[in-house]
Amino acid sequence: EETAVPSTDAAAAGAPGPRVNETVGRLRDSADSRLAHPRRFRAAQLRALERLLEEHAQDVLDALAADLGKPEVEARLSELDLVRAEIDHAQLHLTEWMEARHVRVPVAFQPASAKVEAQPLGLVLIIGPWNYPVQLVLSPLVAALAAGNCAVLKPSEAAPASSALLARLVPQYLDARAVAVVEGGAETSQALLAQRWDHIFYTGGDRVGRIVAEAAARQLTPVTLELGGKSPAVVVDGSYAAIARRLAYGKFLNAGQTCVAPDYVLAVGPAAAELEKHLPRAINAFYGKDPAKSRDYGRIVNRGHFDRLAGFLDAAAQGPGTLVSGGGRDAEALYIEPTVLAGVDVESPLMREEIFGPILPIIRVESFDAAVRFVNARPAPLAAYLFSEKPRLQSVFEDRVRAGGIGHNVCNAHLAVPGLPFGGVGPSGMGNYHGKYGFETFSQLRPVLSKTAMLDTLKAVYPPYGWAKTKV
Ligand code: NAD
Repeated sequence: EETAVPSTDAAAAGAPGPRVNETVGRLRDSADSRLAHPRRFRAAQLRALERLLEEHAQDVLDALAADLGKPEVEARLSELDLVRAEIDHAQLHLTEWMEARHVRVPVAFQPASAKVEAQPLGLVLIIGPWNYPVQLVLSPLVAALAAGNCAVLKPSEAAPASSALLARLVPQYLDARAVAVVEGGAETSQALLAQRWDHIFYTGGDRVGRIVAEAAARQLTPVTLELGGKSPAVVVDGSYAAIARRLAYGKFLNAGQTCVAPDYVLAVGPAAAELEKHLPRAINAFYGKDPAKSRDYGRIVNRGHFDRLAGFLDAAAQGPGTLVSGGGRDAEALYIEPTVLAGVDVESPLMREEIFGPILPIIRVESFDAAVRFVNARPAPLAAYLFSEKPRLQSVFEDRVRAGGIGHNVCNAHLAVPGLPFGGVGPSGMGNYHGKYGFETFSQLRPVLSKTAMLDTLKAVYPPYGWAKTKV
């Protein structure tokens, strides 16, 4: 992936340094002048972003089709609609979020009043990935704007059509003094990271996540890391045909390139054979006999990721394990068929690295307990799913499994509820956003305590101390 970077940066006007300095300097001035603080400014920017999405929905769909062969309905649901839902939610709650919250003051400090009020952080950097290249840049932007910040967006160079579209449209709709898009790859990203920010919000893989965290540490900049991981789906009981469809939908959406997609299935006992039967049926029902011909199935983002996934398939073909269905590919078209594997080596790269593509291994385990142990023996994932109708198992799963989020009998959907925080834990990330949580991520919750000095009610605490008074 890194080899593609210099050419992308070279394509932009000259070295990234001067361009970055100029843009960041300009927005820093805006942030210092508190340009984006007023409620009316925030509301106007949110409306402008809403209009951008309305008036250029087709352009967004075209860009996503160019970058990822993203089917239109998928693109609407998982990119446009998700950003719109965040905007709606922020518009509905903005006044309430911005209101000062009054807090009771302990008797010793009375008379006094205490309040906490969200303050904008200032100037923030949002670095996006390529898999949902519009949504994962604009949803954090909604939160940053709602919270009264100026923002620089750095979309992923691996989704060039989406990146170029954002660079063209954002200045047309949003106040250019408050929001800027800087295009480019790793070199540009690092030039940006060398600047002074009030918050850095990064979505992507953990390798770059570490680079971002190190750069942030140098300037003690707070950072949100939205990373990935191997999100397991534990299947215990239920309607296996429906479970297979839920798994297939969550996995093969965007050709498996979804951070919260079920990475692999842990099937307890007889559930394994049931899924081996029902998953191919679900795939066939969704995408037909030849998914390459389906309008509803996406493509792999680039040759690098195609080769990585083809490597998993080649290794799996050497055994152990069996191909339950799929396995087809076409390098020219960046197509990988929805694929289900069973009995794979749990120590192989396929089961150690995040798959991030349309390959679903089913691993049979003897018990629910064994499934929980399997999950907890590995790095905490971004999401963990349980398929069971038994409330007791659901609560044990919630108690024992460490993951960024949990879904019972449904994959991916928790991130579409703006009232829920979204983010990882441990190696799947730090911090969260969506709805009020996003607003708070981009705010300082600042306490204010007020008293009058006309009446000196604090006399009791001044020296010289009355030792006798404090004796127990
Ligand atoms: P990517 O390659 O597009 O990289 C992400 C960003 O980092 C890009 O903007 C890129 O320009 C920048 N970058 C790349 N190299 C850099 C470097 N050396 N220094 C500084 N910046 C650099 O995306 P990716 O990492 O392949 O994204 C896929 C990963 O993202 C998966 O692991 C997935 O699980 C995760 N992800 C997480 C979420 C989430 O919300 N938690 C969402 C989507 C994807």
